[in-house]
Amino acid sequence: MTSSESSILVVGTVALDDIQTPSGRADGVVGGAAVHFSAAASLFAPVHLVGVIGDEYPIEELVFLRDRGVDLAGLQKKSGNSFRWGGTYHADMNTRDTNHTEVGVFADFQPVLSEEARSARWVFLANADPTLQSFVLDQIDEAELVACDTMNYWISGSLDPLMDVISRIDMITLNDEEARQISGVSNLVGAAKWIQEQGPRYVLIKKGEHGAAFFSGDDIFLAPGYPLMEVKDPTGAGDAFAGGMFGQIARLGSLEREGICSAVVYGCALGSFTCEAFGPGRMVNLTLEEVEERVEELVDLTRVKTASRMGER
Ligand code: AMP
Repeated sequence: MTSSESSILVVGTVALDDIQTPSGRADGVVGGAAVHFSAAASLFAPVHLVGVIGDEYPIEELVFLRDRGVDLAGLQKKSGNSFRWGGTYHADMNTRDTNHTEVGVFADFQPVLSEEARSARWVFLANADPTLQSFVLDQIDEAELVACDTMNYWISGSLDPLMDVISRIDMITLNDEEARQISGVSNLVGAAKWIQEQGPRYVLIKKGEHGAAFFSGDDIFLAPGYPLMEVKDPTGAGDAFAGGMFGQIARLGSLEREGICSAVVYGCALGSFTCEAFGPGRMVNLTLEEVEERVEELVDLTRVKTASRMGER
């Protein structure tokens, strides 16, 4: 297998974020779905990042990604402002209000993928306009797994193009509220079934601090959220989740059940690390050893012996 065949492609926002949480405020923090995803995935496997920034972007703050082997050749610089997003989190940290979304140079972003990027084995279309996701999808032909993320904004405003993307991919990642919104089904198991019927083999429902539910055919796998004593900033946790999950899948190089379920637990671990600091702050020096330790802790959190097995002793 060549390295491009075992690598990951992510296409999405590279943004500046203005974030208010109960623990504080930070403005102009580097972020965006593609940055949070790459920060996590690059701990495991080579990543090609495709995105766009404006003139003012502090590119030096992404050096940690390059140092971790992220290929930034697909990160274009255009004249204008970078994508900028601002949000305020509620006291429970699971819900937030968007204060502003200024699309800037991302508005007419139509990337033509390099040969390496288009031959990546694992492809993640981060949260973005479904017409952009479709434009990228048209250039992908060899991937073993193509996933897309989305959010309420596109479900309410661009449902038809979004459903078209969903019909063409293998996996969708979305949160519980979004799963209910897109399906019109309030029961999460029913919502996941409905989404699977639209095309994706796999549905990953993120449940914030409560972990995630992964649906594959009739199979369901549940992973707990890591119990953090303090959440500083959950921005990007969903993208880091996807990055951790994709990273582990790429490292294993397979989609068999045991591996993909372990990838969901790695996703929970990476999502929790992201919450420990503003922006990708905690990710900069995060090591794979720390990730492995947290994954062990997560596994131990739910390990039990059933009554019948105790009786076997
Ligand atoms: P998450 O907390 O996982 O939902 O991801 C938040 C990140 O996504 C932030 O860094 C934002 O810059 C970025 N973001 C917010 N809104 C959008 C949007 N409409 N499209 C693409 N990226 C977004």
